[in-house]
Amino acid sequence: MRTLDIVIILIVITLGTIACGCINEQAEEDRTVEDISETTEQVMSGGTDTIYQFSIINALLEGVYDGEVSSAELKEHGDFGLGTFDDLDGEMLELDGVIYQVKADGNVYEVDDTTTSPFAVVTFFETDIEDIFSEQMDNQQMAEHIADLLPSENIMYAIKITGNLSYLKTRSVAAQEKPYPRLVDVTKDQSVFEFNDTRGTIVGYWMPEYIDGINVPGYHLHFITEDRTGGGHILEYTIDSGIIEIDSTDGFYLELPENENYLGTGFSQDTEGELEEAEN
Ligand code: ZN
Repeated sequence: MRTLDIVIILIVITLGTIACGCINEQAEEDRTVEDISETTEQVMSGGTDTIYQFSIINALLEGVYDGEVSSAELKEHGDFGLGTFDDLDGEMLELDGVIYQVKADGNVYEVDDTTTSPFAVVTFFETDIEDIFSEQMDNQQMAEHIADLLPSENIMYAIKITGNLSYLKTRSVAAQEKPYPRLVDVTKDQSVFEFNDTRGTIVGYWMPEYIDGINVPGYHLHFITEDRTGGGHILEYTIDSGIIEIDSTDGFYLELPENENYLGTGFSQDTEGELEEAEN
C-alpha cells in the first residue's frame, strides 16, 4: 500500500446493506479512520467486485497528464481495465493482467511495471452475466443490447466483448509536452485507425450518470486485436458475432494524485461538452 493512502476516498456501496436497511448507525459513527483503512485493505485484497480508479476524468480534461501510479500498482488492483500513460502517451488497455500501450503511431507495446499513468480504471474481472450473440450490431445497437442485460442503472459494470468485428474505428493520442494542453485540444490532432474484419477484445466500463466529473458516464471502451498488434480508444464499430461478459461491480475505490500537476490545477473551467468531444 502507498504511504499516503490517507488521501484515499473510499466509496463502498453495498447493495445488500441498502436493500435491508440494516446499517447500525451508532456503530457506523463509531468507526475510526483506522477501521476505515482496515476495510479499505479488505476491499483491496479480497474484494474483487471493486473498481479501482486513479485520478478523475475532469483532471484529464484539464490537462493533468503527469504519470504517478505505476503499472505494478495497477496490477495489484486489477487484471482488467483502461486508462492512459505519463504525458498522455497513448491509450492503455489491461487484459488478463497484461497492460498494453497503443501509441499514436498505431503500434502496441506491453509496458513494464515502472511505467506510470495519470488516469486508470481497473478491476479484477469476474463474469456475472454472459451473452453469446451472432447478429450484427453497430455500437449504438450494442449499447442498447447491453443496456437490456444490465440488472440496474445504479451500479457500475466492467464490460468485455470478444468477437469478430467487420468494422472498427479507434484513436490514440501522442505524448504531450508541458505546459500540457487541454484534452479537447489534444484530441483534435488524434490518430485515427480503421480496421476491417478484425478479431479481438473490447475492454471497458459502463458507468451511471452520477459518476460525471469522476469518470465517463455511459460507455468507455478500448480495443485490442487478438494478435495484440492494434487497438485504441473505440470511436465506432460493427460487430458480427461474439461473447459479451459483464462484471457487476458494487465497490468503487478512488485514489487521487499527489503530484504538483494535479494539486496545482484549477477545476474552475466549465468542462461541459468537452468530455463528449474528447471521448467520442
Ligand atoms: Zn479511452
